[in-house]
Amino acid sequence: MKAIVSDIKLQLCRLCTIVENMLALSGMMRASFGTTYRRCGKPTCWCAGHNEKGHPCTKLMWTDESGPKTRAVRNEDTHTVLKAIEQYREYKKLRRAFRTEAKQLDKLLNLFECHTTRVNRSKMGYAGPE
Ligand SMILES: [Zn+2]
Repeated sequence: MKAIVSDIKLQLCRLCTIVENMLALSGMMRASFGTTYRRCGKPTCWCAGHNEKGHPCTKLMWTDESGPKTRAVRNEDTHTVLKAIEQYREYKKLRRAFRTEAKQLDKLLNLFECHTTRVNRSKMGYAGPE
């Protein structure tokens, strides 16, 4: 019984640490990052050549309630945007870990519930044959 309670408290600490680490990633941004190529349209530009894909253009992609979204990223923002997306990757990892550990906590709480009920039923004289 004591073992179950201390396992539950330990598991709760594990979850708490994960959540603290998630909350520390306040600079994250849920999006992905890609490069597209675009011709600028000037007939004298190098990109007008037949074998040219065009100027590289960094884009930000995400999905919200109304569907997928894409925005071109300003050159001066590239580093900041990349850092924010990197933080989101870390956040996602922690989120997965959270779910796993939360399931484990739920299992332990079930164990506590069953064990405590059995003990108290027995104490009150309602144990009966198993
Ligand atoms: Zn061009």
